[in-house]
Amino acid sequence: MNKNWLAMTAIGALLGASALASAGECGPDALGTERTLTLKREYAAYGKTQHESLPLKKGEVVLTFDDGPRVETTPLVLKALADQCAKASFFMVGNNIAAHPDLARAVMQAGHSTGIHSYTHAHQGAMSPADQLADLKKTEDAYLAAFGTPTPAYRFPFLEETPTLLAALKAAGTTVMSVDLGIEDWEPNEQQPDRLAARLAEHLQASGGGIILMHDANAPTAAALPLLLKVLKDKGYKVVHLEWQ
Ligand SMILES: [Zn+2]
Repeated sequence: MNKNWLAMTAIGALLGASALASAGECGPDALGTERTLTLKREYAAYGKTQHESLPLKKGEVVLTFDDGPRVETTPLVLKALADQCAKASFFMVGNNIAAHPDLARAVMQAGHSTGIHSYTHAHQGAMSPADQLADLKKTEDAYLAAFGTPTPAYRFPFLEETPTLLAALKAAGTTVMSVDLGIEDWEPNEQQPDRLAARLAEHLQASGGGIILMHDANAPTAAALPLLLKVLKDKGYKVVHLEWQ
């Protein structure tokens, strides 16, 4: 028995152990991720609030989180998703990316996809066209600095689309992501986990699935996420993960 063989055996044991650990963490009781939907960088706008929805089957959902990364809450969201092996898309605010590039990268390193959501979450429609374009450029630059790649997708703050930004995003081939349903986790006094879960169930019942808007920067959402993912699992919804080519 030589040293190399021993080393290989030790590595094999470690790999085996980690494979078993991840299988144990995400067995049949976990929500999981059913499939990946790969979008091209060719500009398209999705979300039936304003556009066509994604090509999803009934019962499929896309998990999306806005307004982070935020140190106090985004790690909790990542943990809840990892516990269920569920993949999501995060639309990040530029100044949060610039302030916490490591946390932004941690989101991507956990296997989630990322896009941008303006630089300071200002109402773009209240800004001049030049200021809107400057806001977009600043946010794209923050994304590029953190991730080393151009941003593939944009979600408008407040879903408030403007002709100026739509034209700029189209020219750049950036996907615009609106939403199909939300959990109204911006409503004050209505953010107890059971309220958020009830709203999710109610909206899914009406829509049959789709792009779900949540906020990883929102503490009640982060706290409620294990329950929200349980609602999806219990009701048989399947998670579709978005990626960009
Ligand atoms: Zn937002």
